[in-house]
Amino acid sequence: MTSLTFYGGAGEIGGNKILLQDKNVKIYLDFGESFTFGKDFFYEYLSPRTVNGLEVYFEFNMIPRISKLYSKEMLKATSLKHQKPDVDAILISHSHSDHAGHLSFIDEDIPVYMGHCTHKLIDVYTRLYKSFQDIGIHNQLKEFKSGDRIKIKHVEITPIHVEHSVPGAYGFIIKTSKGNIVYTGDFRMHGPRADLTKEFIAKAKASKPIAMLCEGTRMSSDVEHNYTEEEVESKVNEITKASKGAVFGHFAMSNVDRFMSFYNAAKKNKRIMVIDTRFALILDSLREHIKILPDVRTDKSIKVYYRIAKSCTFCEKDYAVWEREYFNNKITYNEIKKNPRKYLMHMRFVELMEFVYLQPKQADFIYSSSEHFYEGEENEEERTVWENWMKHFKIRFHKAHCSGHADKDTLKQAIESINPKALIPIHTQAEEEFKKLHKNVLLPEKNKMIEL
Ligand SMILES: [Zn+2]
Ligand SMILES: [Zn+2]
Repeated sequence: MTSLTFYGGAGEIGGNKILLQDKNVKIYLDFGESFTFGKDFFYEYLSPRTVNGLEVYFEFNMIPRISKLYSKEMLKATSLKHQKPDVDAILISHSHSDHAGHLSFIDEDIPVYMGHCTHKLIDVYTRLYKSFQDIGIHNQLKEFKSGDRIKIKHVEITPIHVEHSVPGAYGFIIKTSKGNIVYTGDFRMHGPRADLTKEFIAKAKASKPIAMLCEGTRMSSDVEHNYTEEEVESKVNEITKASKGAVFGHFAMSNVDRFMSFYNAAKKNKRIMVIDTRFALILDSLREHIKILPDVRTDKSIKVYYRIAKSCTFCEKDYAVWEREYFNNKITYNEIKKNPRKYLMHMRFVELMEFVYLQPKQADFIYSSSEHFYEGEENEEERTVWENWMKHFKIRFHKAHCSGHADKDTLKQAIESINPKALIPIHTQAEEEFKKLHKNVLLPEKNKMIEL
C-alpha cells in the first residue's frame, strides 16, 4: 500500500507535515509548524511553559497523537508511552518554520535529512536566536545536495533544488513501489535563480509521476501583477537614487536574493550597504555555499553596524566574541549621521531604536517583505508602531515587494509540464482552483489518508 496522510499543509498555507507510507517505509515530508499554531488557545503571556513537553499540545489537538514518533522527553508528562520510533526518515525541504518548526519534538533516533545550506541556516539562526528556531537533538542529521539519491529501504528520493525566498530550498522526486511521487516544497520562478526551479520541473516531468503534491500559496490571486526580484531591485534603485538622506531597508536576513537586490542598488548609487552584526554572521556562514555573496569582512561596499553599548565608547569588549569578528569593517551611528547619503542600511523592526541615535533627516524607508506581512490584519498593532516611528522621524515610507512563491500562471505551467496522474494541492487555501487545471485532483484533509 502507498499512502499519504496529512498532519499539516492540507487546506492551509504552511505547516507541511505529510506522512508517506510505502509498504514498510514511513517517511515524513517536512515537519513544520502551522502559521496559526497556538493562536486559538494562547495569547501573549498565556503560553506553554518551555519545560513542558507535548501534553499541552495534545490537549488541544495541536499536535497529532502518534506513537513511535516523539522523543521520550516530549512525552514524559503525557499519557502516550514512549516506544522505539518506527519512522524511517524525515525529509526537510527548506528552513522555514512552517516546514521545519516541529523537529524539536521528534525522537532523536529518527534520521533527519536536509540540504547542506538549510542546515547551515538553521545552525546560524539557532546560534543567534535560541528560542526562535530550536530543532532539537538528532543523532542522525544527514545533509544532501541537489541530485543526490537517498535510499530508504526500497524507496529512493532525489532532492532537486528550487528557487524560493530562502536559499537551500528543494523539491523531492520519490520513487515508490507504485511509481514516482513529486513534492514541490515551496518554490518560485521569478528571481535570479529561476534556473533551479526549471531544472526541478524538467526532472519531475521526466519522472512521469503518479502523483504531484503541489504548493499553491498564490493560487487564489488572479489579478495581481507578478513582481519579479529584478523589479524589486530596480524600485530600490530608483528610491535610492532620488533620496536626499539615508535609505533604510527591511527584509528577511535569510533572503539572500533580496539582500543582493539591495546590495546591487547600493553599489549602483555609490552607497555603502550597512548590515548589523547578526546579518553579517548569517551572510558569512552562507558564503561557503553561495559564492556570489560578498565577504562582509573586506568588501568595500559593506560596513557592519555596531550599536551603541553600555560604555558608549564602541570598544571591542562591549560586544560578544562572535560580533568582534567584523570589527575591522565597523561603522557606528556617528559616521552615518554625518554623511547619510552615503548609506543604504538594513533595518529590522527591533532596530528601529537606532533612529534615536541616527536622527535621520529626509530619509527613505523601503519595506520589502517576501509575503504580504505588512498588509495582514493580524499585524495591525505592529504596523501602527512602524507608522508612528516613520511619522516621528518624517521618513518617507515605500514598499518594494516580491513573493517567494510562484504565481498562478507559473503553477499552471509547472502542473501542465510535469503532467502527473493525480494532483494533490498542499500549502494553499485555494484547492478548488486546482480543479480547473487538472482532471484528477485529490483534495487532502487534515489527519486523513489518501491512498494512491
Ligand atoms: Zn511554506
Ligand atoms: Zn517557505
